[in-house]
Amino acid sequence: MTSLKSYNTFGIESSTKQLHSITNKSELIDFLSTAPDSFLFLGGGSNILLTQAEYPCVAINNIEGVAMVFEDDRSVIVKAGGGVNWHEFVMFTLNQGWYGLENLALIPGTVGAAPIQNIGAYGKEVKDFITEVHAIEKSSLKDCVFDNDACAFDYRNSFFKQHKHEYYIYEVYFKLQKSTKDLNISYGAIADVLKQDKINSPTPLDVAKAVIQIRSSKLPDPKKIGNSGSFFKNPIVDEHTVERLKAEYDSFPLYPFHQQFKLAAGWLIDQCGWKGKNIDGRYGVHDLQALVLVNLKDATGKEIFDLSETIINSVKDKFGVELEREVNIY
Ligand code: FAD
Ligand code: NAP
Repeated sequence: MTSLKSYNTFGIESSTKQLHSITNKSELIDFLSTAPDSFLFLGGGSNILLTQAEYPCVAINNIEGVAMVFEDDRSVIVKAGGGVNWHEFVMFTLNQGWYGLENLALIPGTVGAAPIQNIGAYGKEVKDFITEVHAIEKSSLKDCVFDNDACAFDYRNSFFKQHKHEYYIYEVYFKLQKSTKDLNISYGAIADVLKQDKINSPTPLDVAKAVIQIRSSKLPDPKKIGNSGSFFKNPIVDEHTVERLKAEYDSFPLYPFHQQFKLAAGWLIDQCGWKGKNIDGRYGVHDLQALVLVNLKDATGKEIFDLSETIINSVKDKFGVELEREVNIY
């Protein structure tokens, strides 16, 4: 038996009978052709909650490698192995002078998992940079290439999230720009941090550094406090719901979202009194961001799952809005 504690950022104690490290495409195909019916496929384990004491088989994506495959005056196409660390990839691209991913700095996990929930932060989403996703189809062991449209990217969602356990991503292609002009500093505290640092004409690297500074001050470092980032998605609601809430609350965070509206799940949870809640000093809700559930000591995945259920019910009772979990439950 191998402990999975260091393979999930929640730091949940659980174990597996078999642990496989996948380092290239042919190992991935071999693994998928012989794997038991039920297995876990993990990158950095930063978007999962392990609720069982034991799993039969776990494979870790350790497929490395980054290469530029096309270049013109304005842009580059870069491919990266599914097991490449996401933050290291972002910093590598910026240091090469290839821009676009700066707002997505310091997101934990791997390149291969980035398309799955279309990772996003500070007004940027990875969907705007992905040109192709290469994956093995489990049922046929066929090598499949998905162009951007075929990935069906949506808010924290994609074709791959909708077809969980069917495709295993071994490589992702990104189109990045050489121009430093297309920056988004309007979101959150980025502009304030740049101003504080007296940076008037920020470079993409300056933006990444500001994002790193903000994230480090606000989000719990999984190496110190177990967590999987935002446990819930921000709910997308219709005008009718917004009108109902406006009649009851003077002000609340509200963002237009296509023809609908996005509410801040963190605000809803906070209003229900959950922010900073601590259960027996063992687990609870982060004190700076109510969207983040934390394992303070030795919580089980089941305890954290049950807490998430209680939070979903209390938000539903108070606001009539149903929260959906973002974290993948196993
Ligand atoms: P894992 O947790 O290992 O896997 C997640 C899911 O994807 C699982 O279902 C797994 O089976 C599947 N999977 C993983 N790799 C593959 C693959 N190659 N092929 C097929 N399936 C695969 N997310 C954001 O979007 N924005 C943020 O700003 C953000 N901030 C975070 C901050 C913190 C502190 C933490 C802990 C998490 C944060 N997250 C954020 C969530 C998480 O980092 C991302 O979802 C990340 O992409 C998960 O990568 P991973 O490699 O750890 O995936
Ligand atoms: P924040 O800045 O306190 O904002 C709270 C929420 O309001 C966010 O969820 C964000 O939605 C939304 N928001 C803020 N400004 C917005 C704007 N100008 N337009 C549209 N929506 C806006 O959030 P935070 O917790 O510190 O996180 C900062 C960023 O990092 C966010 O983008 C967040 O998604 C991302 N993040 C994600 C995770 C994760 O695990 N998924 C964990 C930590 C941080 P969005 O979430 O849609 O951006």
